[in-house]
Amino acid sequence: MTLIQFRTAQVTVSKDTVTAVFNDGKTNEFYIPGKDDNYKQIAKWAGYSDDWERYAIEHELTHHFIADNLGWDYSWAVWTQTWFDHPWPNYISWEEHIVNHLQRYTKLGVSDPVNVLPLVFGERLDPLRAVLVVLWKKVLDKPAKIIYNHETQKIEVS
Ligand SMILES: [Zn+2]
Repeated sequence: MTLIQFRTAQVTVSKDTVTAVFNDGKTNEFYIPGKDDNYKQIAKWAGYSDDWERYAIEHELTHHFIADNLGWDYSWAVWTQTWFDHPWPNYISWEEHIVNHLQRYTKLGVSDPVNVLPLVFGERLDPLRAVLVVLWKKVLDKPAKIIYNHETQKIEVS
């Protein structure tokens, strides 16, 4: 089990769940889907081949990563727990677009077709992509705790 301390949430990654505890105490538990065809397809599209579990974990982490870096109080999508409710409010679709395309850009170098990533992150896009790669890799090592500081972009492992 690894705890990742973001500015906007404390996130725990265990074998099959990703749990987010927000600063207001609200908790969201995300169960990594098993053989979900939708997840498999998105994972492939985003550059994860058949490793949809990895896609799912990194997807959840990326929600909090962008919330930290965009000055939000929390990941709107995770905080409102709207994965399975449709139709989504527009702002959730927008956040999901950013997260999925940032994953795809980070894995494959492919930007989104309407260039939302450069519009949202500006010159920070590639530096943030580099930090996200490091964060994902550190989580793979399963340390007890990771502290991510969005101000310095430092990642401390203990
Ligand atoms: Zn999402």
